[in-house]
Amino acid sequence: MSSRILLVEDEPGLVLTLTDLLRAEGYAVDTAMDGEAGLTKAAARKFDLVILDVMLPKKTGFNVCRKLRQRGVDTAILMLTAKTQVLDRVAGLKLGADDYLAKPFDPAELLARVEALLRRIPKQRLIPVRTFQFADVKVDFERAKVSKGEQPVSLAAKELQLLRYLIHHRDRVVPREEILEKVWEYDSEVSSRTVDVHVVWLRQKLDNPQNPRYIQTVRGKGYRFTT
Ligand code: CA
Repeated sequence: MSSRILLVEDEPGLVLTLTDLLRAEGYAVDTAMDGEAGLTKAAARKFDLVILDVMLPKKTGFNVCRKLRQRGVDTAILMLTAKTQVLDRVAGLKLGADDYLAKPFDPAELLARVEALLRRIPKQRLIPVRTFQFADVKVDFERAKVSKGEQPVSLAAKELQLLRYLIHHRDRVVPREEILEKVWEYDSEVSSRTVDVHVVWLRQKLDNPQNPRYIQTVRGKGYRFTT
């Protein structure tokens, strides 16, 4: 399957040129003309690479990049910056971009960067999620800090591990047996009922227990985290 690239750029001429160029190389290309549209499309995680202009209407490329990483979207990002100041490059890389290219650039250089990034970054990076936000919930897995609105929420170690596992595999139905294997490491004292109980606790603390929005039960199959 060809790699899928999202191009977020607001100059129509450049959009046309780059789309043609990338398609000629066999990539599947989708485009967004402003930061908000770019964020929405990229957040759906259907791309292998996002080419992201910095100067965009509605939301800057820096903002889009930061929000994507906050939401745990780890798609490769190549930033296009009109400015060549070192500070801008550093800012982009700090926000989680994987590479940058200063405008104006040689199309061959862009293709080389795209190829290198797609080669370097596996399609599904298995970096554990470090921080994640959904609704008014903020989770910092490294520091084991969770808050809902302004209030800190206290999670037991297993609750945090379960949440991390579900978020890492979000949008996929995770069977109870898999959760037992990966989170509880097949502890013989533990039954799949334990998983259910922990899910209930997580929902009470972070979701709506009566009508769960984020930690969903898929009847007969398992659980799915979705935003
Ligand atoms: Ca621009």
